[in-house]
Amino acid sequence: MKLPAEPRLSPVTPRRRLHVITWGCQMNVYDSGRMADVLAPLGYTAADGPADADMVILNTCHIREKAAEKVFSELGRLRLIKEERAAAGKSTILAVAGCVAQAEGAEITARAPYVDIVLGPQTYHRLPEMVARAHRAAGPVIETDFPVEQKFDFLPEQQAAPGALTAFLTVQEGCDKFCSFCVVPYTRGAEASRPAASVLAEARRLVANGARELTLLGQNVNAYHGEGTDGRDWGLARLIRALAEIPGLVRLRYTTSHPRDMEDDLIAAHGDVPALMPFLHLPVQSGSDRILAAMNRKHTADDYRRLIDRLRAHRPDLALSSDFIIGHPGETAVDFAATMRLIEDIGFAQAYSFKYSARPGTPAAGAPGVVPEGEKDNRLAELQALLRDQQTAFNAECTGRVIDVLVTHAGRRPGQLGGRSPYLQAIHFDGPMTLLGEVVPVKITHTSTNSLSAALIFTPSKQELAPA
Ligand code: SF4
Repeated sequence: MKLPAEPRLSPVTPRRRLHVITWGCQMNVYDSGRMADVLAPLGYTAADGPADADMVILNTCHIREKAAEKVFSELGRLRLIKEERAAAGKSTILAVAGCVAQAEGAEITARAPYVDIVLGPQTYHRLPEMVARAHRAAGPVIETDFPVEQKFDFLPEQQAAPGALTAFLTVQEGCDKFCSFCVVPYTRGAEASRPAASVLAEARRLVANGARELTLLGQNVNAYHGEGTDGRDWGLARLIRALAEIPGLVRLRYTTSHPRDMEDDLIAAHGDVPALMPFLHLPVQSGSDRILAAMNRKHTADDYRRLIDRLRAHRPDLALSSDFIIGHPGETAVDFAATMRLIEDIGFAQAYSFKYSARPGTPAAGAPGVVPEGEKDNRLAELQALLRDQQTAFNAECTGRVIDVLVTHAGRRPGQLGGRSPYLQAIHFDGPMTLLGEVVPVKITHTSTNSLSAALIFTPSKQELAPA
């Protein structure tokens, strides 16, 4: 993670070092950046590692199995570092942030009393005040409420790393859906959207710093309903249309979405906003109506099929990605077969699939019909084989096609460049470094399950590379 450049300090601001350890999703990566931003005015700049840091933040994720145990194991390691620094006369503030902090705050302070700050994802903007209190306090500072004010209103502007060609931008947080298996509504709170003016200002700044592609983030990003610049309620499509007007911004994406929140104008935007890339991550989780009901997803498998048909009517080349949970309590062989059928029907360009594992406090955790681990393993292997075949086939169909690539980095070999297709495939080809940050057409020469090789059709001249 890139931390902000050295802030301008007043003569009395002490210099301090910060190390942030980030686990989990892109939202956490973004949040870690914002925590660093919020601490920069206090004199915090990037440390080389925890041993070099006056403050260490462990930004945690609750989505995987045994999340809390992993946190305690990492805290044990950080405790030793804190003790070594104390022996050398240096103090260290140790903070635990993120979803495990939100869910297990009391447990953390009980089992790891050397932790100074525990903060939930909704309270990052209060971090400077918490640091001040930690310096004064005899015990840990805990902030895991869902404050009435929105943290978006209090966070400073994102300090984008200069030259970053792609960037994430959080526009929405939280979730009201309460899927049976998921902790997010309990750890991130209710759905909240950022005002459009603030999103647009941040986007303009990111683009001014060099970003060509922005990915809008939210736990339920397509539930976005924020205050528009005209004072009205804007949905995600309206926000995307406004962002697409920013000169120099050539690509837009958004993730993660819920099928229930795909509003008509968002579906239409896939057909009429050229900057909106033809790739959509739209989790379905299961293809069985019985299991979808047990998961509280509030849509059927056929609702999902119809939704995809409508999206493809607007954007025929739309590539799809999804999440699947295998072995939710009550899932039978018949339910699993329905999931396989749905995958066959839709055809995914890529997907993420997981075995169900119980999250304490969620409705599914105590539900009857637990699927034996061996059965889950077999079903997951079968499902992943099908998804891998689909991904391989999707990539193979690109052979011989001319595809636009946003060039984002130098490749491993000298003279090689790397980037992404509109469908989020990784592409490598030989070309000059002057193409970094440009969208150039390439011809696909070879494909594998995970990436594409290509050849430049022509090297654009300087005039052709001039920004529109
Ligand atoms: S919609 Fe997504 S974030 Fe919300 S509860 Fe369901 S799985 Fe969790």
